[in-house]
This record gives sequence, C-alpha cells and structure tokens, in this order.
Amino acid sequence: MKLQFYNTLTSVKEAFEPEDKNKVKIYSCGPTVYNYPHIGNLRSFMFVDTLRRTLKLLGYGLNQTMNITDIDDKIIRDSITENTTVEKFTQKWIDIFFEDLQTLKIEKVENYPRATETIPDMLRMIETLENNQLTYQKDGNIYFSIGKFHEYGSLSKLDVTGIKSGARYDADEYEKDDVRDFALWKSPKQEDEKAWESKFGKGRPGWHLECSAMIRKIYQSGIDIHTGGIDLIFPHHENEIAQSRGAYPQDHFVKYWLHCEHLLVEGQKMSKSLGNFYTLRDVIAQGYDPLSIRYLLLSFHYRTKLNFSFSRLEESKKAIAKLQNTLDRVLELTNFQVEKGLPKGYAREGYNKFLEGLCDDLNVPKSLGEIFEFIKKVNNSLDSKSLSEGELLDITSYFHNVNSLLQVLSFEKSLLDSEIEALIDKRNQARKDKNFKLSDEIRDDLLKKGIKLEDSKTGVKWKRI
Ligand code: AMP
Ligand code: ZN
Repeated sequence: MKLQFYNTLTSVKEAFEPEDKNKVKIYSCGPTVYNYPHIGNLRSFMFVDTLRRTLKLLGYGLNQTMNITDIDDKIIRDSITENTTVEKFTQKWIDIFFEDLQTLKIEKVENYPRATETIPDMLRMIETLENNQLTYQKDGNIYFSIGKFHEYGSLSKLDVTGIKSGARYDADEYEKDDVRDFALWKSPKQEDEKAWESKFGKGRPGWHLECSAMIRKIYQSGIDIHTGGIDLIFPHHENEIAQSRGAYPQDHFVKYWLHCEHLLVEGQKMSKSLGNFYTLRDVIAQGYDPLSIRYLLLSFHYRTKLNFSFSRLEESKKAIAKLQNTLDRVLELTNFQVEKGLPKGYAREGYNKFLEGLCDDLNVPKSLGEIFEFIKKVNNSLDSKSLSEGELLDITSYFHNVNSLLQVLSFEKSLLDSEIEALIDKRNQARKDKNFKLSDEIRDDLLKKGIKLEDSKTGVKWKRI
C-alpha cells in the first residue's frame, strides 16, 4: 500500500519516502502557552495525532517534536498584567496543555522543547545568518532581510517582486499582504520585560526563530515532515524556511509540508481574538464526552474546514455507540478475549480498505466509511449466527487495530450493578480483615473498568465515570 501526502510546497499529493523508515523526523508547531487551548488549536494537535498513529499503524518508527512557545508578545503582556514571572505564568498553561492532550487521548510525542531552553541555539543561528549577510540591525533589533533571500515566498506562493526593501515588522504575527523583513532579535520595550544578554544586546528572540533553531538542534540537518495549522504557512513557515535555508544553504530543510485546515464557528475561524471559541473544558462542562470531541475532530479530513456544532457532537456520540455496540456483541461471544495481531481472515479485506483510506493523504472519513461497511457485514453475520470462533477473534483484532487510531472503543466488560455491589462487599470484608492489598486491588480494578468508589461516613458509594 502506497502512502501519500499532499505537500503544500509542491501543491500535489506525493509518495511518502522518508530518509529513514525506522526514524521518521517530524516537527509540529505547538502551542503558545498563555491561555486555555481552544478546540480549534486542539484540532491541529489531533491532526498531529492522526499522522503519528497512522504512521505507527503502517510500521514506521518515529522521532517527533512539538515546540512549546513559552516566550512571545502575548506571554510578556499577560505575565506583566498578572504580576508574575514568565516561568510561573507559562508553567500553569503548559500543565493545562498536557492535561487537554490526555483528555483527548492524544499520544505524547518524543520531544517537547521550550523556546526559553533554546536561546543559545537561536543566538548561534542569528550569528550564522549575520555571517551569510542576511541580517541588519535597527533600533537595537536584528532583522532578517527577505530581499536578500531568493527562495522567499516559495511555500506560500507569494509574489515578492514588488516588496519594499527595508520595510520591517517587530510583531510576531502579521497579514499576508504585508510582506516585510521580520525580527530575529528584539530589544526590550519595557524595563520589567523578560530578556536575555547577548552579543546583539539585551533582548529576546522573534517567534519564528525557535522552530528553525529547534529543528537544527534536534535533527542537525533537515526533517521529513513539518506540520502546522494553515494560518502558519505565512508568515511563520515562510520565515522558518528563510532562517534555516539562509543559515545552512547546503542542507535540505523540510521534504513534506502538511497543513491542517481551520475549525470554524458559524463560518468563521475559531480564534481567541474573535472571541468565538470554546475550550475543551467548556464543552465537557456542557455534558459532552471528550471522546465525542475526539471523534468529531478526527472524522473530518484535515484539509477541509470543519464547522463546529453541538449537533455534530451528538452525531459523533451516536457513531461511537454504533461501533461499540457491534464490538460488544462480538466480545460477548469471545468471552472478552481480544486478538491483538493483524486481522488475517474474515476481517483482512475490511482492514486493508481501512488502511487504504489512511494511505490516501490521511483520508479518515474514507476509512470511517469502510469501518461502517465492515460492521454492517459483521452485524449480518452475527444475526445469522454464522461466525466461527476464529472469525470472531479475527474481528476483535480488526477492532483492536482500528482503535489504535480511533481511541474511542472499550474492550472491557461493562459490569452489572449487582456485580459491582458484590465486589464492594468483598472489598469491605477485606478491609475488616485488614487485607488492604486485596481491598486496594478491587478498588483499582473497578477504576480500570470505569467505576469509581468513594468512601464516605455512611458507607461506600460508587459511580460510573
Ligand atoms: P497557538 O497556540 O496560537 O500558537 O496555535 C497552535 C496551533 O493551533 C497552530 O498550529 C495554529 O495554526 C492552530 N490553530 C489556531 N486556530 C485554529 C483553528 N481555528 N482551527 C484549527 N487550527 C487552529
Ligand atoms: Zn513553528
């Protein structure tokens, strides 16, 4: 099966040929940690998860990196308002970012470098760019001179012929019709602003520099895949190319550029500045299961816009229930035995069709369509009681493998209320006998099956979580 990706650089789907199949090098632009991520941000991280889990399913080994921007204009502004240090301010938001990833079952990648830990590497890069005569100083800042870098505009297909030489920007973010030289190093604007000493004077890096410096630090030369939201193509990724290729013209930088479309609300991009956003916590507080959110974000192709709505979350919940229902019917018959290898017989063709969708530029909707076709077939076979033990086990392996991507299915037997109560009685007896090892085991086993026990003065209470 041939894996292909749509490459923003060439505007076509290309066969994926990494340098080393056992160590695919992927860099993904990560969060700026100054607030709760909204579910639009989380869509771009879910896309990274889809890419990661697909490559793993197809047998690739990975070395993936996501940066954490823990210094920028907004972080400085908000930490000063809160009268706290940049470190304390960002740590809180970093913790929340990882909690949200866990809630959505987004797998951790190998490296999460922070901008503030990469300052020496960024300074070295500025020096190299200076040696290559691509920079200039103005008012204590160092700028990249885009007019001197001939590849500028190649990713975003900008026509740079009419640009004003020497027009520049200090701000980290700006619009596409405002092509200007961008800051590599910025002198402090206020006295209490976080800044580092350097040979270029006291200051801090421009936002674009960290990604170029981290890729150089972690991977030495180039990488296979670079990802980000579509809004990052310009200026951020264009500037990354300028910095990395400008500093090391002999090395390739990125082979495949993959960009994820936006999550919209009523037709507009979900964004903090427009105020039309929901955090993950907002949506969960309204009674929605995080897995419905995961499924919704996963179920639209990453290169299509997705209009967020609560009715779509309801549909996702129903879709998960439909899959789980068929899986439960099968598990009842295998006595909850699950085969973890690849499907070999009954489910092999269906599984290959599922993979074909993913291989076609991560076409998850196509793969999900194949899953629903497959469960229709399984339900019919279950209705006619025509499945052998081997076929049933093959179906469990199908579900096990597709769930490595989906992460929304449960393979545990759900306990009846009477079974839970019997286990609580057994635990109470164990506690009376001072057999705390057994009582803890029972509590932990129940928790794994989604039952939480709460000891209170009036006895043990339980709830399904
Ligand atoms: P930030 O934390 O603002 O640096 O953004 C983190 C990631 O979220 C970036 O890759 C953005 O491109 C992406 N992003 C921001 N808004 C949206 C949105 N509405 N839909 C999808 N991705 C988004
Ligand atoms: Zn970046």
